[in-house]
Amino acid sequence: MTASIETLLPPTRLLKELHRIENALGRKRDIHWGPRSIDLDILLFNHDNIEEEKLSVPHPELPKRLFVLAPLMDIASHLIVPGINRSVTELYQSLKKEKGVQLWKRNNGEGEFGLFEN
Ligand code: AMP
Repeated sequence: MTASIETLLPPTRLLKELHRIENALGRKRDIHWGPRSIDLDILLFNHDNIEEEKLSVPHPELPKRLFVLAPLMDIASHLIVPGINRSVTELYQSLKKEKGVQLWKRNNGEGEFGLFEN
């Protein structure tokens, strides 16, 4: 899921706030890159390119992850990704040729999920 927000926080303070929310939601950092109950990332920040010790924006994995590009298309399809200078839609379409993405959706109100689209 992606969301667009407005904030007065600078990027590194926003990252700290995301970590605070992850912790409040009970995230544990047991296995690096392992399964997580919640993961909040900053994908983009205005049109900025940020390279700091603990923060890279645009998120370095953004162009490699269809499961990120697919929901980002819903809210920002024409946005040009700084540094790559390609739109979200272009990145999605070129990656989709290589890999598929499966959208899973709740089938009923009882917590069952099923394949929605391929
Ligand atoms: P994660 O496992 O996704 O929470 O990320 C682990 C670390 O990646 C965080 O502690 C951040 O310092 C670093 N990181 C670098 N760039 C970003 C970004 N754009 N969004 C979130 N985390 C980032």
